[in-house]
Amino acid sequence: SGDQLWEETVTTVALKDVTKVFPGGARAVDNVNLDVTDGEFMVLLGPSGCGKSTVLRMVAGLEEPTSGAVLLDGELANDLPPGERRVAMVFQDFALYPHMTVAENIAFPLRLAGIEPNPRDERVADVASALGIGDVLGRRPSQLSGGQRQRVAMGRAIVRRPGLFLMDEPLSNLDSGLRAELRAEISALTRQLGVTTIYVTHDQAEALTMADRVAIMRRGVLQDVGTPTQVYGRPATLYVAAFLGSPRMNLLEASVYVHLDRYVQLKLGEQSLYLPWSDIRSRTVAHYHGERIVVGMRAEALTPVAPDAPGEVLRGRIRYLEHHGHESLAYLDIGATAIVVDEMAGPVATGLPGERGLRRFGQVVQRLAGRSVGTA
Ligand code: ATP
Repeated sequence: SGDQLWEETVTTVALKDVTKVFPGGARAVDNVNLDVTDGEFMVLLGPSGCGKSTVLRMVAGLEEPTSGAVLLDGELANDLPPGERRVAMVFQDFALYPHMTVAENIAFPLRLAGIEPNPRDERVADVASALGIGDVLGRRPSQLSGGQRQRVAMGRAIVRRPGLFLMDEPLSNLDSGLRAELRAEISALTRQLGVTTIYVTHDQAEALTMADRVAIMRRGVLQDVGTPTQVYGRPATLYVAAFLGSPRMNLLEASVYVHLDRYVQLKLGEQSLYLPWSDIRSRTVAHYHGERIVVGMRAEALTPVAPDAPGEVLRGRIRYLEHHGHESLAYLDIGATAIVVDEMAGPVATGLPGERGLRRFGQVVQRLAGRSVGTA
C-alpha cells in the first residue's frame, strides 16, 4: 500500500572526512565534515565550481565519495543506491514530462510506487494547493510560466513526503522578482513539512534569507558553517569575510601594540586607533601584541563624522560616492588603504572631495598569516 514508500525517512545527514577526486585529478570536495540536523534547512553556498553540487550528489547517491563517509540517519550510506535513500531532488532544469498534465507530473512518482488513485489524487491536490498551482492541474508544462513549472517540479519532489529534500540551484533559471517570491515559499513549505533540506546556491541573498545554517565552500574546502548571523557577523576565515556581504567588508592590515594594560593601539598605516582596556574588543586584539592582523569593518559599522570630531576617529579623504537608492556608499582613502562607508549612517556629504572622520570599527577578522579569531 501507498504509505510504505517513505516509511523509513531520512532525517539527518552527516559527512565525515568526505573527499571526491574525479578521474583526471580535480579535487572537487576536500575532506568535508558537515552535520545536517533533523528538520534543518542547510544551504551550501560558494562560487561556481567550489564543489557544492558534488556534495549534494554524494548525499543523493549520484556520486560515490573517493574517501570518507556519508551517513544518513547515522547509517553508512556510501554504497546505498539512490533509489533506496528516501531522498527527493530538485534541479535547476526541472525536466517535467511535456506530454503529461501538471496533475500527472506530480502524481508520477506515486504511480511508479503503485499507489492507488484514491489516496494518490488527494495527495496531488494537497500538494498542488500548498504550492498555489491547484488551478492549473489540467495544463501541460508548455502552458505554464517558469515559476509555475518550478512549483510543479517541487510538487513532484515533495509528493512522496521525503525525509530529505535536496535542491540544486532550483531558482537560477527564473527572473529576480520570481526568485524572491519562490524562495520565501520554499522556506515556508519545507518548514511546514518539517523536512530536512540541503539547498545549493551561489546566491548569497538566497542563502542568508533561507537558511537555518549556511555552509560556505571554496575550492572543495568547507570554510565556515553557521547561522546567517554568525557567518555574516563573525566569519571564520578571511575568505568568508570578503565573500559575504555587499559592499564587501573592509579588511585592513593593522599592527597591534598593547600599552601596559591601559589601552591597545591598532596602527593602520599612518593612523592609529586606541582601544581603551574597558572595550571588550581590546582583550581579543591584545593577544596579537607585536603582530600584524587583519581588522574587518563592515560599511554599516562605521559612522561618518566631521574630521575634527572629538574622540577616536579615523580620518579619510572621499574618492567618490555611489548612490544606491536605499543607501549611499562613500569610498575613502585612509592613507594606504581605501575603504567603503555607508554615508546614510552619518552626515550627508557636502561636496567632493572632502574629509571624513570615521568612528567605531567592527570585528577583528584574522591574524595575517594565521588562524581565525573572528570576534565581534
Ligand atoms: P556550479 O555552481 O558551477 O555547479 P559547484 O560548486 O556545484 O559549481 P561542482 O559541480 O561540484 O561545483 O564541481 C566541482 C569541481 O569538480 C569543478 O572543478 C568541476 O569541474 C569538477 N567536476 C564536477 N563534476 C565532474 C565530473 N563528473 N568529472 C570531472 N570533474 C568534475
